[in-house]
Amino acid sequence: VPLVLTHFLDRAVSLYGEKVGVIYEGRELTYKQLNDRVNQLSHGLADLGVKKGDRVAYLAPNTLEMLEGFYGVFQLGAVMVPMNIRLKPDDYVFILNHSESKVLFVDQELYHLIAPVRNELKTVEHIIVQGKNDDIDEIAYDDWLAQYPVTPFERPQIDENDVCSLLYTSGTTGNPKGVMLTHRNNYLHALSAMHHLRVSDRDVYLHILPMFHVNGWGAPFYYTANGATHVCLRKAIPEMIFDYIQKYKVTVMHMAPTVLNSLLQYYEQNVPTVEHNVRVVIAGSAPPPAFVTRVEKELGWEFIQVYGMTESSPLSLVSTVRSHLRHLPMKEQYRMKAKAGYAMIGCEVKVVDEYGQEVPHDGKTIGEVIVRSNGVMAGYWKNSEATMEAIRNGWLHTGDMATVDEYGNIDIVDRKKDIIISGGENISSIEVEGVLYEHPAVLEAAVIAAPHEKWGETPHAFVVVRPGKEVTEQELIAFSRERLAHFKAITGVTFVNELPKTASGKIQKVHLRNEYWKAHG
Ligand code: ATP
Ligand code: MG
Repeated sequence: VPLVLTHFLDRAVSLYGEKVGVIYEGRELTYKQLNDRVNQLSHGLADLGVKKGDRVAYLAPNTLEMLEGFYGVFQLGAVMVPMNIRLKPDDYVFILNHSESKVLFVDQELYHLIAPVRNELKTVEHIIVQGKNDDIDEIAYDDWLAQYPVTPFERPQIDENDVCSLLYTSGTTGNPKGVMLTHRNNYLHALSAMHHLRVSDRDVYLHILPMFHVNGWGAPFYYTANGATHVCLRKAIPEMIFDYIQKYKVTVMHMAPTVLNSLLQYYEQNVPTVEHNVRVVIAGSAPPPAFVTRVEKELGWEFIQVYGMTESSPLSLVSTVRSHLRHLPMKEQYRMKAKAGYAMIGCEVKVVDEYGQEVPHDGKTIGEVIVRSNGVMAGYWKNSEATMEAIRNGWLHTGDMATVDEYGNIDIVDRKKDIIISGGENISSIEVEGVLYEHPAVLEAAVIAAPHEKWGETPHAFVVVRPGKEVTEQELIAFSRERLAHFKAITGVTFVNELPKTASGKIQKVHLRNEYWKAHG
């Protein structure tokens, strides 16, 4: 059987056809109804001349239209290009032209990002606007879709190694790169992830991570394959999230630590007496250890940390406490969960030194994380040079630095470019942030390298103070000196009202560093 993603929806329709598959803005659709819309979409795209291998771009938040786009596009053997909704018009010109997208679906709320550059799009032949769009002079999605039959779409031959998506990286170093993921990549990643996250047909999955971002993109596959219910949410704000958790009996959520932080904050302030069914919350991107305990103790939800990147579909590490280690004290178990964890099924992960030798499992020697897995991308679209640099001898070089402990748990120390080098010592910005998050007045923290005459660099913190609390720079410096080796302690604090974040909720330390160095460098 070719490992083609269309199988996942086929399976849901045949086993769960009458079950609610999607809930969106109060509407409930069964898997059968979702599939009808998917078929209409495939017929419509074929009518527009979209063929196997063609690119179809999306610019939308987590909507029903976006979710049905996956399979609507895949049935043609076409390639989906989901774009980050927080970019600038020029970025869309780059991505649409670079991917040579033929059709662009855009949510009506985001159309204003495309309108000013419409004439610069070289390959886009059709723009179709989703949602209410009376004053927009483009094809209206609902009317367009309604013309097409719900009958099964006759699919071309699709090979498992065919590319199914181009996901553009954020492009912190130059132009964004289009990560080519294949059906096989996503299919096998889904099988592995659904096992480790214990996904079942009893799950109700709340879409908090944006579907245009790799993890929000990859997760729907395994919830669909198992006949779980999708709950789509346009804007992930804490009030709405708690409301949906109760209303729809949500069982599982994936989110960035920053969103988790805002949930914890909201929970503490409003102490909702929530009757809930949440079984687990899953987060990557270096959640501070303090969050792990708070989620498990205060919210009573299981916490699972994962590690991954766009280039590997994304996940390759998962952190749950293995059964034979359950005898360890709870404190030790929480510490374990605060690490990125161990290799998932279908993934080989090593931490290696500059000569490619594995570092000792001593919990302190730092090396680079390299990954060989079913999820590793086919390459960067039209950029073989970057591909050759990223994948060497079959191993994806992640640019993330880590240690491995005696149990084989990998702890991500930092991105290579975020590590602070002070007097020749490596300092993990993540470790320092973790300590700051233990301070009761700290709501958010990001630590960067600040230039220093004597030491080269020292850790400097950007801090958002919790509403109603106060703290001084000196207090935070002292707090970090009490808890960290002195050379790791912060030497300064900039208090800010908010931290710059990506659309997926990651703190953009690059921006902070650039700004700081411009002012003080
Ligand atoms: P770009 O590559 O475009 O600059 P990005 O690397 O932030 O953007 P993603 O692929 O979404 O884009 O993120 C992957 C990165 O996120 C990893 O390389 C790693 O640095 C970080 N990350 C993911 N999970 C974890 C984790 N559990 N702990 C620490 N860092 C993590
Ligand atoms: Mg990256």
